[in-house]
Amino acid sequence: MRRALAVLLVCAAPACTVGVRRAASPSPPPHAPTATAPACDTAYAKPDPKRPVIRLAFDLDDAHARVTGTEHVVFTPDLPVTEVVFRLWPNGPASRANGARLDVTVMSLPPALSEGDTLLSLKLPAPSPAGRAITVDLDFVLTLPRSDTDRYGHTARTAWWASGHPLLAWVRGAGWAREPAAGVLGETATSEVADYDVTVTAPAGDTVLGGEASDLAPAPTSPDGRPSSRFHNALARDVAVAVGPFETRQVRVAGVPVLVAVSAELATGTDAEAVFGPVLENVTSALRSHATRFGPYPFPSLTVVALDAIGGAGVEYPGFVFVGSRRYDLVVPHELAHQWFYGLVGDDQARDPWLDEAFATYAEQLANDEEDRDLASLDARGDVGAPMTYWDRNRRDYGTIVYAKGAAALLSARDEIGAAAFDGVIRCYVAANAFRVATPADLARAFAAFPNVLTILRDTGALPKP
Ligand SMILES: [Zn+2]
Repeated sequence: MRRALAVLLVCAAPACTVGVRRAASPSPPPHAPTATAPACDTAYAKPDPKRPVIRLAFDLDDAHARVTGTEHVVFTPDLPVTEVVFRLWPNGPASRANGARLDVTVMSLPPALSEGDTLLSLKLPAPSPAGRAITVDLDFVLTLPRSDTDRYGHTARTAWWASGHPLLAWVRGAGWAREPAAGVLGETATSEVADYDVTVTAPAGDTVLGGEASDLAPAPTSPDGRPSSRFHNALARDVAVAVGPFETRQVRVAGVPVLVAVSAELATGTDAEAVFGPVLENVTSALRSHATRFGPYPFPSLTVVALDAIGGAGVEYPGFVFVGSRRYDLVVPHELAHQWFYGLVGDDQARDPWLDEAFATYAEQLANDEEDRDLASLDARGDVGAPMTYWDRNRRDYGTIVYAKGAAALLSARDEIGAAAFDGVIRCYVAANAFRVATPADLARAFAAFPNVLTILRDTGALPKP
């Protein structure tokens, strides 16, 4: 997520002083680094063929305020399990305070535990070994709050939701992700890549956006006469949907089908072309910049949905991005960078939020040629690698430290060993951790041959001290 004020937070903290440790130089200094990029296989690691298969059906009411849903999960754990755990993220403190709510009304297994409203554990009748498929069926009701900056919201004509269904909380090799939900605006979700098949039934006349930018064919009709649309993403960690009146444009950027949709409510106050123009311009430049640096765009298509309520922020999902009404020059490259850092290379967003937010800010600054922007934040007090439980208690510093200082640490490290070597290591890290949930240890391992990079990342608290 790009927080609306993140760019303004640099040096807003009392501890922040303007003492630049290292500034990017427009021309190579006499001691220009000569390190070379490591050799590695830059093809993305293949997704697990036994990843979860999830079939979702959402039905949005005519008031655009309530979604009834069903979920069918076929889950093959790689470790023995005695329960199946789902996260109900609309019940997290920030979303709940705005009026979002997710109720699971029917479960095919008995509930064993419900913790803090976001954790739902279903008890298996007997311990289940690794490698055996488990099937779970759930019915649920998602209540959307009135227009909100975050990922759940509705107006009289438009609805949007993401992480709006019970989210399977498994991480291959690690088990259930049970970190507490945080009240600070941002993500605490951790989920592995799954094969999603999503059907959305909506009020007549609405456009349904749910991924698969090329899939705007006339929707089939559901049994009750309301239009229904179906989307498939075989490589998604999560799902986002928007429904309502939208103006759309479809283009192809570097081979990627891109759909940009502007809500009628946003287009009412602003000429739609004033949104399409800068969004498409920034999508084009950012997709090219990120793909050149990190590897091919990882999903079959990209959908960018502009909503008035999102304001100057943005929210990322695999192959799907929400943007607001302004600052597309920052928001678009940031959210598109999350397609690599979160979408492709996942992380535990509650425990290691910097692994996607610092990297997305870093990529955004490289795409915009603004590598000096946050260097002053290197002197701000705080560990880049702190978890969301810490930022929940120190909300004012979250943007300054995780986004700005984190990006500055990465850019300083890049300056230290040279762009070619640094970009080469990141490319190897992305390829090796594709379609997985990476950890700081994976990143440290990727930079094992560059102790000066590890020193910078440890000094800024991004990586733990040895
Ligand atoms: Zn972000």
